[in-house]
Amino acid sequence: MATFVELSTKAKMPIVGLGTWQSPLGQVKEAVKLAIDTGYRHIDCAYVYKNENEVGEAIQEKIQEKAVKREDLFIVSKLWSTFFEKPLVKQACQKTLKDLKLDYLDLYLIHWPQGLQAGEVFVPRDDKGNIIPSKFTFLDAWEAMEELVDEGLVKALGVSNFNHLQIEKILNKPGLKYKPVTNQVECHPYLTQDKLIQYCKSKGIVLTAYSPLGSPNRPGAKPGEPSLLEDPKIKEIAAKHNKTTAQILIRFHVQRNVVTIPKSVTPSRIIANFQVFDFKLSDEDMAIISNFNRNWRFCNIEGTSQLKEYPFHEEY
Ligand code: NAP
Repeated sequence: MATFVELSTKAKMPIVGLGTWQSPLGQVKEAVKLAIDTGYRHIDCAYVYKNENEVGEAIQEKIQEKAVKREDLFIVSKLWSTFFEKPLVKQACQKTLKDLKLDYLDLYLIHWPQGLQAGEVFVPRDDKGNIIPSKFTFLDAWEAMEELVDEGLVKALGVSNFNHLQIEKILNKPGLKYKPVTNQVECHPYLTQDKLIQYCKSKGIVLTAYSPLGSPNRPGAKPGEPSLLEDPKIKEIAAKHNKTTAQILIRFHVQRNVVTIPKSVTPSRIIANFQVFDFKLSDEDMAIISNFNRNWRFCNIEGTSQLKEYPFHEEY
């Protein structure tokens, strides 16, 4: 089984990457260094994670000590919603590149389809607590991002948290220069995203699965929620293969040709989460796991459902 998927640009995207959301300063550098030593070549970053500077230190050290070459790494970052206006798109990308200490990104994503009012605050709200949208749309941002490709700052473009109609809007944009190569969305056995995967595949777009382990420590997690890592049926499959539940959850994506980016700052987990290429789930295991779908979403931005481009009113 290949450890990468081929994008429509012909670039090879490693199928398992390291997530870095909520990876704390003081820990994320060691996490990224260990990940690279373990064999990870894909690191998922974002401006809004506020740790790209430390991720960049790790990448720089590993390149300097010749543990890895830049061209063997696949570094992803994301444009935050307050930067949809053209000049801000370039500024945001340049800040990310500076922090990551890189000349180019392998992939730059629009983090969420909703544009938010520009400013210092990541999620700006008015006096009544309502989130303030931007007058700029993701199509404005896309045009500006296409220029980043032309300038060599970015190799490929993609989206995140887009429904299929929003992807369609990009694909149908008059004068489109570059198509999205991936849509990064929440995906795991409780949200299998079958229709979105099918749609993306028909357009040559690879799906990237975030929160593959159910994001157990995310802000807003509520007691009593379903837990993927504690699911007895997934535990049963794990025991059968002498693997951990996390490894089963990651392998599930690998076998569907879906890229996935489990996050950890715990050394033993970083290593174990990458040990998913030495076993195979049977067709029966895959069918059982796919049946766990309950359209359950762990991640959302509270208070955005009234915004025009809120992505999750659509079925997929
Ligand atoms: P996740 O990868 O599903 O889960 C991460 C959590 O699981 C952490 O608390 C981690 O703890 C723990 N963990 C990791 N490996 C484990 C293991 N083997 N056994 C038990 N627990 C384990 O959640 P996520 O961070 O939400 O998603 C992954 C990545 O996707 C993010 O980091 C980010 O890069 C990306 N993402 C993108 C978006 C978007 O809007 N595009 C949204 C969410 C996430 P420790 O770190 O303490 O080990």
